[in-house]
Amino acid sequence: MNETGQNFLEEIVEADLNSGKYRSIITRFPPEPNGYLHIGHAKSICLNFGLAKKFGGTTNLRFDDTNPVKEDVEYVDSIQEDVRWLGFDWAAVYYASDYFEQLYDWAHKLIDKGLAYVDDQTQEEIRLGRGTVTLPGMESPFRNRSIEENRKLFTRMREGVFKDGEKVLRAKIDMTHPNMLMRDPILYRIIHTSHHRTGDRWCIYPMYDWAHGQSDSIEQITHSICTLEFDVHRPLYDWFIEQLEIFPSHQYEFARLNLTYTVMSKRKLHELVKSGFVSGWDDPRMPTICGLRRRGYTPESIRLFAERVGVAKRDNVIDLGLLEWCVREELNKRALRFMAVLNPVKVTITNYPKGKEESFEAPVNPEDPSLGSRKIAFSRELYIEKDDFMEDPPKKYFRLSLGTEVRLKYGYIIKCNDVIKNDLGEIVELLCTYDPTSRGADGVWRSVKGTIHWVSATGAQKATVRLFDRLFTEPNMDDLPQESEYTDFINPHSLQTVTAFIEPALADCPATLPVQFERLGYFVADLQDMPNHRLFNRTVTLKDSWIKNQSNT
Ligand code: ATP
Ligand code: MG
Repeated sequence: MNETGQNFLEEIVEADLNSGKYRSIITRFPPEPNGYLHIGHAKSICLNFGLAKKFGGTTNLRFDDTNPVKEDVEYVDSIQEDVRWLGFDWAAVYYASDYFEQLYDWAHKLIDKGLAYVDDQTQEEIRLGRGTVTLPGMESPFRNRSIEENRKLFTRMREGVFKDGEKVLRAKIDMTHPNMLMRDPILYRIIHTSHHRTGDRWCIYPMYDWAHGQSDSIEQITHSICTLEFDVHRPLYDWFIEQLEIFPSHQYEFARLNLTYTVMSKRKLHELVKSGFVSGWDDPRMPTICGLRRRGYTPESIRLFAERVGVAKRDNVIDLGLLEWCVREELNKRALRFMAVLNPVKVTITNYPKGKEESFEAPVNPEDPSLGSRKIAFSRELYIEKDDFMEDPPKKYFRLSLGTEVRLKYGYIIKCNDVIKNDLGEIVELLCTYDPTSRGADGVWRSVKGTIHWVSATGAQKATVRLFDRLFTEPNMDDLPQESEYTDFINPHSLQTVTAFIEPALADCPATLPVQFERLGYFVADLQDMPNHRLFNRTVTLKDSWIKNQSNT
């Protein structure tokens, strides 16, 4: 960010508009439809759509569908759904495959200029001939075919005369170029595979480099933004545009988003799904947009995250805690508050009359008084968290223990006098008394050290609750110790399912709304697995480790 608060891409766009280089800008988001979008893509989406929006331009959605082997309409559909859900609207949706005919003509143009040739070498020979960073490459024995012969062979490649791998079309640039990508890059390879849009019309498919810049150019993209690893591709991107004398799109690179405890490569995400370690692409532990959505992340929270991450020119790893902080920020404003007990132990208030019931008023969301209040029932029997009681507590344990007092949130102060245990010595019930003068809002105020949440046994409903932990145990998943695999660091405890008691008002609340279980975190109903809304996913806990870490450093 500079002193005007703009990132380097915004500065470039602003300068281009001010100098009159462009009257308006066009960006694009170019996913390959070979998997579901993840939080890294969300960063790119927010950036591309955000830039255009800020400067009054437009953004295209373009499917980079040049590899028929891995692509599928399932992904095309999910990508559109996810981009819309994030809150963005494209000016147009295009497919690189729409440009196959144009790209094919342009390949002929290069051939005619003596700048492309058909190579019969095997993949291995081509790889070896390319040299290394320190060793120049060697020219292919087929490099100096005549233009006529190249035209004929390339046409026959398209006609399906040759088998996969038998021939490729290469650009004729410079086999000694310091940039390896400029050493006669491959433009087309033969793949006899049906394409999800063009069917069997083609058996030659363009490589990324041959398709990407030209697709940008066709759409008159002014600022083509991609991740840093593509900076070595830029000379080639420019070379094609220059040789073809077409609209000069320009490529700019920014640092890809990496998150601690997270893998984002589509190959690995595919493997997690295939191995059954997660329930699908939309498993709430996945870093995919659909997984985050199911986990209870809102579009606002993801956009806030993208903004907070900013646009860097150097690779770094972002703390997963920042993403969690963003969703807390958002949900704190919106989530309706309820009480739920995840790991219950029964409490009997021995001095409270049997059959009597009263209720307390509690705010629906203290951040937003306009939402009003809810009624919370109180009776002789209730549930509290097992964790909130200790028979023999250490110092500074401010929750309930034998002989001490605690306040039931919104309600009375209670004191524990005795415990009942089962044959295994486990506590199954707490016998408590309440102080009738201590009733929350209208009682005599008296302070006690601890306040705990609870649910009255009368009216309490059962719900299944899923608690999540990070999918991996290692913060830096892109920098693992040698000879280890990312699968070695899968967290076996990333999913815990419990049966909880929830207050009845929660069961009546519309299932699509995010809720806070007081003291426990933010949750959302999982309608997919239980349409009758008795299953909740924990989005995030209330505890904010990120802020704490920040202030420690
Ligand atoms: P993979 O290599 O795992 O298949 P990809 O990056 O090739 O993923 P694409 O579908 O080609 O996936 O990506 C579409 C766009 O999203 C590209 O412009 C790419 O640069 C961007 N993108 C992908 N991952 C990230 C990330 N982690 N951070 C920022 N942008 C990303
Ligand atoms: Mg890609």
